[in-house]
Amino acid sequence: MFRSLICAVVGHRVNRNRVRHDGRDFIGHCKRCDTLMVREPDGWRRMGRDDSSSYDGTD
Ligand SMILES: [Zn+2]
Repeated sequence: MFRSLICAVVGHRVNRNRVRHDGRDFIGHCKRCDTLMVREPDGWRRMGRDDSSSYDGTD
């Protein structure tokens, strides 16, 4: 699957028209590469195991 080089440089851009709330978190998708994103107090963060360095494992 193609990943946008722009996203790698400047970060993902969430498509606000597709943001939804799953009862706990706001979930969105990058409008360029469709990466799943989750809203956090300091901004959008990519959802996925390859970003585990910033995930503390708590639920
Ligand atoms: Zn992206």
